Amino acid sequence: MKPDVVVIGAGAAGIFAAWRAASLGKKVLVLEKTSRIGTKILISGGGKCNIAHDGPIGDVIRAFRKNEADFIRSAVNRFPNRTIVPMFTNKGLEVYTRPDGRIFPVHQTAKDVVAILQDYLDEAKVEVSLNTPVEEILVEDGQIIGVRTGAPFEKHKGYANKEDKPRFGAKALLSDVLQTGTTRAGLNDQIIHCDKVILAAGGSSYPNSGTTGDGWKWARDLGHTVEKLTAALAPVYLELDPFDPELSGVSLDDIILKARLNGKEIARWQGDMLFTHQGVSGPTVLGISRLIAENFTEGEIKLEADLAPGIDHPQITEAILKQDGRRPISSFIADSVPQRLAPYILRQSGIDEYTFFAKLEKKPRIKLVENIKALPLGTVRTVPLEKGEVVAGGVSLTEVDPQTMASKLVPGLYLCGEVLDVAGPVGGYNLQAAFATGYVAGESAAS
Ligand SMILES: Cc1cc2nc3c(=O)[nH]c(=O)nc-3n(C[C@H](O)[C@H](O)[C@H](O)COP(=O)(O)OP(=O)(O)OC[C@H]3O[C@@H](n4cnc5c(N)ncnc54)[C@H](O)[C@@H]3O)c2cc1C
Repeated sequence: MKPDVVVIGAGAAGIFAAWRAASLGKKVLVLEKTSRIGTKILISGGGKCNIAHDGPIGDVIRAFRKNEADFIRSAVNRFPNRTIVPMFTNKGLEVYTRPDGRIFPVHQTAKDVVAILQDYLDEAKVEVSLNTPVEEILVEDGQIIGVRTGAPFEKHKGYANKEDKPRFGAKALLSDVLQTGTTRAGLNDQIIHCDKVILAAGGSSYPNSGTTGDGWKWARDLGHTVEKLTAALAPVYLELDPFDPELSGVSLDDIILKARLNGKEIARWQGDMLFTHQGVSGPTVLGISRLIAENFTEGEIKLEADLAPGIDHPQITEAILKQDGRRPISSFIADSVPQRLAPYILRQSGIDEYTFFAKLEKKPRIKLVENIKALPLGTVRTVPLEKGEVVAGGVSLTEVDPQTMASKLVPGLYLCGEVLDVAGPVGGYNLQAAFATGYVAGESAAS
């Protein structure tokens, strides 16, 4: 069977692209490198999957950077959250919306989300060939003529560097998924002819989930520009001193994390933060990681945390002056931050760990207040691209038609999902953008 449309990648974008094209009557073949569909969806949201973001669609679009928002506007309006979410709930997924607008399954998990997506593919009679990495997109006289597949994907051997432990137990989730996944015979080492190819091969973070940046290589080979790739929604690794790996596991609630480039603030985010053995992670870190990665080569970037947002220096000083002289300072600090962080804060302030308030002199007291408002966390060593939830950068949006997701350079080629230069914030935005651009790519390829 010569398929009408070949979709490369059975991720969020590829699944919806395939389903939409097949629903419109086309013979669709999906070629997926790994042994499962939706491999990255399975590790999303810590295995719970934040499927979309709630609220007016204009607000969802505005969460993206201006040029990205302009590009996805049409697609996200055509396949909005109020259409996507019922596609899941109609098949039994119960969802709830968190106060911050993130939509999650109530009792079920990302596995149930992927099972529903499989159901849609089956209903639309989409053929899926797993363990089938595409090696090349074939073009003749400037037109798509097919793809060449390679040998079965051999991966899933675990992380090369043990220290690179993914967040929220994703490693455990992923290895479980990959080892227990059903492996169907793939269409390996073949040339598959077709006139339309939808490139939905994702980015290059979490490479063990199958995304190793293949799409960008092909796009470049076909003449497309790939905008600079940087980490986004990623942890940040810090230089030692003052950062202390002993703090690993300490989490802070509702702080303001700030990044300073050569002393000037370039990013801030309010929320929670987690110390890791390499640096920091958690929502605040993911929130500012893209700006840090983009500015990394511009100079020295340091992180600091305001541990008491909404409380000013005089109020903290007043609280300190009211303390009983017999009280250890560390116990006062431990009222608002985890006990394990107290010695670090005191060290930064030049105060001995066992000092009582009666012995606290003015200079270290001023320093202590300063540190509560701007605790130095350390100098950024790197923002690991492969650890990000998404990669910023990708195929230039100026070379893709936002109404159809068609390449402006190669007739018959459509692009969707993370392979494009689109990276939203945490909150279900990225899956939503992938679903929507996939839907439009599928519809256009079928027309
Ligand atoms: C740990 C983690 C948690 C996340 N949590 C969330 C969340 O809760 N909510 C949210 O909105 N977003 C989340 N994201 C981001 C979201 O998963 C991505 O934005 C989204 O999956 C991108 O969709 P995509 O279809 O473009 O790419 P992917 O879903 O990555 O799919 C690409 C597919 O292409 C396949 N592929 C790659 N190369 C080839 C090849 N050569 N041949 C054949 N197939 C190939 C890959 O195996 C993969 O299956 C998370 C990401 C990570 C890593």
